[in-house]
Amino acid sequence: MEKSVDVVVVGAGVAGLVAARDLVQGGTDVRVLEARDRVGGRLLNDELPGGAPIEVGGQWVGPGQAHVMALVRELGLRTYPTHVDGEHIAEVGSSRSRYTGRIPKFNPLVLADIGQAQYRLDRIARQVAAADPWRAPHAEELDRQTFDTWLRKTARTAGGRAFFRLVTEAVFSAEPEDMSALWAAFYVGSAGGLDPLINVTGGAQQDRVVGGTQRIALELAEELGDRVVLDAPVTGIDRQSSGVRVVTSSGLTVRARRAVVAVPPPLAARIRFTPGLPGDRDQLVQRMPMGRVIKVNVAYDEPFWRHAGLSGQANSTYRPLGTVLDNTPFGGSPGVLVGFLEGRHADAGSRMHADERRAQVIHDLVGYFGPRAGHPIAYIERDWAEEEYSRGCYGAFTAPGTLTRFGPALRKPVGPLHWAGTETATRWVGYIDGAAESGHRVADEILARLT
Ligand SMILES: Cc1cc2nc3c(=O)[nH]c(=O)nc-3n(C[C@H](O)[C@H](O)[C@H](O)COP(=O)(O)OP(=O)(O)OC[C@H]3O[C@@H](n4cnc5c(N)ncnc54)[C@H](O)[C@@H]3O)c2cc1C
Repeated sequence: MEKSVDVVVVGAGVAGLVAARDLVQGGTDVRVLEARDRVGGRLLNDELPGGAPIEVGGQWVGPGQAHVMALVRELGLRTYPTHVDGEHIAEVGSSRSRYTGRIPKFNPLVLADIGQAQYRLDRIARQVAAADPWRAPHAEELDRQTFDTWLRKTARTAGGRAFFRLVTEAVFSAEPEDMSALWAAFYVGSAGGLDPLINVTGGAQQDRVVGGTQRIALELAEELGDRVVLDAPVTGIDRQSSGVRVVTSSGLTVRARRAVVAVPPPLAARIRFTPGLPGDRDQLVQRMPMGRVIKVNVAYDEPFWRHAGLSGQANSTYRPLGTVLDNTPFGGSPGVLVGFLEGRHADAGSRMHADERRAQVIHDLVGYFGPRAGHPIAYIERDWAEEEYSRGCYGAFTAPGTLTRFGPALRKPVGPLHWAGTETATRWVGYIDGAAESGHRVADEILARLT
């Protein structure tokens, strides 16, 4: 079957759906082609015992995320705060601390070291312009080294280095040695500093969406109606004098004047482009792997840790389940702890038998919260590297030497092809907010050219 429209959008994640909505509002005829049998991409709701929704993909939104917060309002959705009351647990090296507020009670030398390294990271992050990080002062010097190399020079104590490894895993779901120091600085800068990235209250983990965060995508798709076509994996995009011809493996072919490619960079690289893309664009996506995460929601008959004065927030530099938070749904039942196996811990977790992985996760939860954590009523996990149309999460990052050599190709249109997706954002790169920003930007690019 063949269709003709003004604009075809590849991918019904937040980026593609926001682009499509803006384009429709701009008076164009649009089709969104989505490979999966659902919309939302890296946003996905599952169900807890009793029927409450729970996110197995992206979930939190927070202050400073103007694009996603505007969407939440416009779509008539509501947010509620992440549970934070009580003491948090932090384990760094051999010390364990229960604390309230932002700063664990650790060896003052380690705390001072973390403070000075964070100050330096925030300072270079501020110098990295969000729109073109490759032009930052010292961009080449930063891009020539991994984030790990930079951290080894900057954090002087073993505890400080362990802290930044944990932070890298929690924020990027990758290891510091995987990525360019310039990418790390750009990412931190795009969120306004390290604190906004790692904090719950006042930061990126502050709020949740009633009904589960996938509702953002579900509501957008509802508005777009039959303009969204599911089960339509795009396999090829031909550029022709009149525009594009987009071929799917489901038998549908769509001709359009322009196309938005709103899939993560490594997946865009799996689409056959004819004629082939410029070398810079291809070299760029060859150097942008996805992070790796297994997200685990463990449900209990009640949030028992709250009775013990604990918030449910726990971090450890030595447990595979390095980050845990209270993820009890709106309504308060059942009690849920969410944990993440990230980076190297996701590599190892993926290679385990499902029972072994579950036992390891529960073991860590018992280590944090005591024996009651050993008796869940449900265990829900999602390994994002196994997803054919994500192949990892939370997002892609760049290897050293990539941004300075090929960065401009990230957003630069190629004839009628426009690039969206959270990885192309200038603010909150890697987040839902960045995905929304990229959708607006790409729709503006196209509307300016079509009219
Ligand atoms: C476990 C996890 C936790 C996260 N936590 C948070 C969080 O708390 N807060 C936050 O802001 N962000 C979080 N994120 C990141 C956030 O989910 C993403 O940044 C955002 O959803 C990306 O949206 P996108 O539209 O750019 O890409 P995607 O959501 O990846 O959308 C791309 C779409 O393209 C489709 N597609 C791929 N290939 C093809 C093809 N060939 N043809 C057609 N369609 C194709 C995919 O199926 C997908 O629907 C998390 C992600 C994960 C996985």
